Amino acid sequence: MFKSGLRHPDPVAIAALGNELSALATQTAAIGPWRSGGFAALARSGALSGFIPADCGGTEADEPALLRLLAAIAARCLTTALVLSQWASGCRIIAGGEQAVRKSRLPALARGDTPTTVGISQLSTSSRHLGTPSLTAARTHNTWRLNGLCPWVTGADSSDTLVTGALTETGEQLFFVVSTAAKGLDIAPPMQMLALSGSRTSRVAFRDVEPADVIVPAEAGVRTGGLATTALAVGATRAAIAIIDDEARARSALEPVAAGLRTEVDELAQRLDAAADGGIEPADRDRLRARANGLVVRAAQAALTASKGAGFVAGHPAERLVRESLFFLVWSCPQSVSAAVMCELAGLGSP
Ligand SMILES: Cc1cc2nc3c(=O)[nH]c(=O)nc-3n(C[C@H](O)[C@H](O)[C@H](O)COP(=O)(O)OP(=O)(O)OC[C@H]3O[C@@H](n4cnc5c(N)ncnc54)[C@H](O)[C@@H]3O)c2cc1C
Repeated sequence: MFKSGLRHPDPVAIAALGNELSALATQTAAIGPWRSGGFAALARSGALSGFIPADCGGTEADEPALLRLLAAIAARCLTTALVLSQWASGCRIIAGGEQAVRKSRLPALARGDTPTTVGISQLSTSSRHLGTPSLTAARTHNTWRLNGLCPWVTGADSSDTLVTGALTETGEQLFFVVSTAAKGLDIAPPMQMLALSGSRTSRVAFRDVEPADVIVPAEAGVRTGGLATTALAVGATRAAIAIIDDEARARSALEPVAAGLRTEVDELAQRLDAAADGGIEPADRDRLRARANGLVVRAAQAALTASKGAGFVAGHPAERLVRESLFFLVWSCPQSVSAAVMCELAGLGSP
């Protein structure tokens, strides 16, 4: 799918992958992409290797291409897109670490041989108001021990490793690769959620867990609400527009609705592309995400309205999209994004 140095991944390969993921989507929503075959399809298509640096067995696609791929996958199966984004976040942290860990971990990840995931929200958006670190790292006799909690880990019970971040006694932030079979690691049963339960998201508790690798944070940092979250919202918006398009075939009055939303999402996607290409200030990145949140929720509701009562029945694509759109209101939302979204909901203008 990706060739080194290629700006745009092969659109035919993306469309074929999208069709495959779409055909698996109902099963993926129930049992997750690891068991439905969705994750294997990502690996086979070469999508995974695009996220991995070229010196570690990947094809290192550029950021705009990766975001477009994430959006295209989200338009066909949001569960798979969420899982891929968390996998990519774990890989990015490893890629920012020391050469020995990069070289030992990334080639197998690029091939899809050994699924990984990430649990870092305790450093950024989860449990911050409690005032004490959720996960701590202490060093004794040359080994690190992790204690505490990752409140959210997508696919914890379906991955071989978990990339996490903890605070040391001196307040330093370090990242670790932990085997999900490590002694002292307790993965709770996956949560039943409003949507995306197929992502098999769990709480993971650590009791004196020895990590497999330490990642000294050379480049690795937590990027809350990064551009990938906006890319997923763009994809989910396009899925809602596809439903309205479908309904508009028999009811031309819906055409301007689909057209209006399409203009908005195309413009957002262009801004996302430009941001991925040229960089973006954190405040502008958060504004983009807040706009995407508003748009994805409105588009899903428009799809439900267009589908009428039939869309309200469990199993209809519109009811699933409405539930899934609400995910963006809580997932990886920095305070400024939550504040902007709440002001919009309350009709208060900008915070
Ligand atoms: C489906 C799904 C999958 C996810 N997967 C991952 C993943 O794989 N990896 C990962 O790292 N993260 C993941 N996340 C986590 C996500 O990125 C956010 O960190 C998370 O949604 C934040 O919600 P929280 O309930 O933990 O926030 P918290 O801030 O901990 O809020 C919890 C509760 O605390 C109270 N509270 C909050 N703030 C305050 C305050 N200031 N004062 C008093 N009380 C307060 C409120 O009652 C709130 O309901 C996932 C989230 C979802 C929904």
